[in-house]
Amino acid sequence: MPTRKSAPDAGRLDRIVAEARRAQAAREKGYREQALKLYPWICGRCARQFTRSNLQLLEVHHRDSNHDHNPPDGSNWELLCTYCHEAEHRRYLDGAGRDAEQAGGGKDSQATYRPFENLGALLKRKDRGS
Ligand SMILES: [Zn+2]
Ligand SMILES: [Zn+2]
Repeated sequence: MPTRKSAPDAGRLDRIVAEARRAQAAREKGYREQALKLYPWICGRCARQFTRSNLQLLEVHHRDSNHDHNPPDGSNWELLCTYCHEAEHRRYLDGAGRDAEQAGGGKDSQATYRPFENLGALLKRKDRGS
């Protein structure tokens, strides 16, 4: 006998998650609209211009990467096209990773040690062998 019927909590959790998503979407829509009113519809990196027809590709970036920090003067917002926005976040993550690595490493002699480069070489070698 399947006991699927007795799971009212799962439905309740779904509703809570859905509600949180809706609130998040509403908040994002709020600051996005404000940012689009404040700033010209131009990507801050590649200077691509946007119109109503492709405006969905223009996204609001948070300079301090805190999405809950939305000052009404727009000082924490930057309009970026979806490609530059993605690149910006990748750059930020890479930088954070490097900083953490340096802080945790401690030994200068190991500064040139790059485990992932070796991994790449190993994988290539494996490919060639097969
Ligand atoms: Zn761009
Ligand atoms: Zn962003």
